[in-house]
Amino acid sequence: MSLLQDKVALITGGSRGIGAAIVERYAEQGAKVAFTYRSSAEQADAIVAAISEKGGTAKAYQSDASSFEQAEALVAQVLEDFGQIDILINNAGITQDTLMLRMSEEQWDKVINTNLKSVFNLTKQVLRPMMKNRGGSIINMGSIVGITGNAGQANYAASKAGIIGFSKSIAKEVGSRNIRCNVIAPGFIETDMTDALDEKTKAAYLANIPLRRLGKAEEVADVCVFLGSDMSNYISGQTLSVCGALNT
Ligand code: NDP
Repeated sequence: MSLLQDKVALITGGSRGIGAAIVERYAEQGAKVAFTYRSSAEQADAIVAAISEKGGTAKAYQSDASSFEQAEALVAQVLEDFGQIDILINNAGITQDTLMLRMSEEQWDKVINTNLKSVFNLTKQVLRPMMKNRGGSIINMGSIVGITGNAGQANYAASKAGIIGFSKSIAKEVGSRNIRCNVIAPGFIETDMTDALDEKTKAAYLANIPLRRLGKAEEVADVCVFLGSDMSNYISGQTLSVCGALNT
């Protein structure tokens, strides 16, 4: 059974890491996938080609999620290309880690704009089409750090905590329109983002993960399939941790 047959999904940051795994899983489950990237055009093209080869449908768009204007143009283009948007996954995100005493205004703004403002930008654009379509599922990529906080990540943790408050509010605002909004809070997942951490930090995380391993991007993507599908029709306004029990 294909869980997402013919649903149209828009996924931000689909060229690498967790986003790329979501794009792949969604296409496997029969969704028509529109996804964005910021600069990785080659990776994005390779993903589209691989999905097409398997008979799936995917299209890549270069679009900066932190830009309100670009989000507006993107959603208009996706609607023109695919006719509707059933699922929005706000996955694009960055880190600029440093202790508060050293954090510049630019590091603060960049992380808040990429991780949190982007969620506002895209959600705002899809709500009307979803209302017209009498339903939709919005999935926002948080982090357990948005729940627990983390030294050296005040900007990142604030952006991810903001996503949780935003998502609960949207769930309450548009629940009556059959639009759901949930957050996934990954723990420590193997991607370029975590590869950038030093070995000492990685070892410290690992020692605290009850499942004794890092998570895989595909394991987060599987939860996105669930929250995008009709299997989760009565789940909204929730934050689901995918962290090997790290945040327990
Ligand atoms: P990666 O760094 O591996 O990939 C990030 C993706 O986001 C890339 O596709 C990148 O595009 C895209 N992106 C970055 N900035 C923008 C932008 N301004 N506009 C559009 N796309 C953009 O990250 P992960 O896969 O690790 O992380 C994905 C999400 O999961 C993030 O929100 C992250 O905060 C969250 N997360 C990750 C965890 C982990 O352990 N990895 C843990 C908890 C949460 P391009 O390739 O063009 O740069």
